[in-house]
Amino acid sequence: MVFKFKNVEVLLVFVIIQEFCNPFRGVAVEADKVTNRPLRSITKDHALRYLTEDMSIMDNFKSHILKPFMIKRVSGTEGNLQVQQHIKFLLSEWGWHIEEERFKDKTPYGEKEFTNIIATYDPNKPVKVVLACHFDSKFFAKKEFVGATDSAVPCAIIMESVRQLQCLLDKGPKSKSSVNDITLQLIFFDGEEAFKHWTSTDSIYGARHLANSWLKEKDPLVPSRNRLQSIRELILLDLIGTPDTRFVKQFAHTSELYDNLVKVEELLRGKGFLIEKSNTVIFQKPYGFGGIEDDHIPFLRNGVDILHLISTPFPSVWHKSSDDWDHLDFNLIDNFSRIFRVFLSNLLHLRPEDSSCRKK
Ligand SMILES: [Zn+2]
Repeated sequence: MVFKFKNVEVLLVFVIIQEFCNPFRGVAVEADKVTNRPLRSITKDHALRYLTEDMSIMDNFKSHILKPFMIKRVSGTEGNLQVQQHIKFLLSEWGWHIEEERFKDKTPYGEKEFTNIIATYDPNKPVKVVLACHFDSKFFAKKEFVGATDSAVPCAIIMESVRQLQCLLDKGPKSKSSVNDITLQLIFFDGEEAFKHWTSTDSIYGARHLANSWLKEKDPLVPSRNRLQSIRELILLDLIGTPDTRFVKQFAHTSELYDNLVKVEELLRGKGFLIEKSNTVIFQKPYGFGGIEDDHIPFLRNGVDILHLISTPFPSVWHKSSDDWDHLDFNLIDNFSRIFRVFLSNLLHLRPEDSSCRKK
């Protein structure tokens, strides 16, 4: 992604247009989409302890989920393929339905192959809540770069979160719950990074291709709409893992989702369910301006609601060789993950109060 200081005004205007004047959001999409987002509010101590302390298994996260991402994984290279295998292997083992979108596109270094991976928990549910990240790493001719925050950690957090929530997802919400039609869908974008300098054609290769395909592809469950219209919201994680990871609200149209993250963080901190060595507030209250270019842009332009969880300002290691394992703050990653699991449980109306998923 890129933060274009020089073009702040232009982007701000773009975002305002997107927020208030987007004909797709106003008419075409909303006519078909579930737009209200009833959130649960999980507050019981035993349920919160289960989602936080009990599910915090950082050794497993590091060795089995994150470590395989921590190689150079530039689009079209062997490392990129290895990471694809890692994602597909685990998610299919956990019973997710996997799709791959493979395509070629021109880059400043010639034609390259890209692969987006889409995993759906229950393909028969019509409404999708998407969690997304990019799994490629940026190409640098002259330096080592594994992109720990960019975006190995965000992808690993998504995978660990769904692994931990699997039993609760299997049990689902209460049968009469209004979120009964919703399922989780994960998108691992390839080719987010520019090969040279960020331009509209040298960046977000995977996201541009997928949004364009889904705009044309009928939703198999609701043929009157396209696949983009099956997405209730796309939650994009990026640049997460260093001690300076902080978020602000990027978009007003998903305000209630961001506010829930703020509330959950306050609740967990108040009850002592966060690790206090890392006691800075992760989800900050001030507004951002939604002008950061990232994989969400082609979806936003086509009326998809976006929750953009990207560290703002960018971490100090951004696009440096120091964006590596040694500069990660595992207490912060743990805290983010604890907040995120409670948030997802609120969003999907999961029932962590029910003790049947607990091992003890
Ligand atoms: Zn990057």
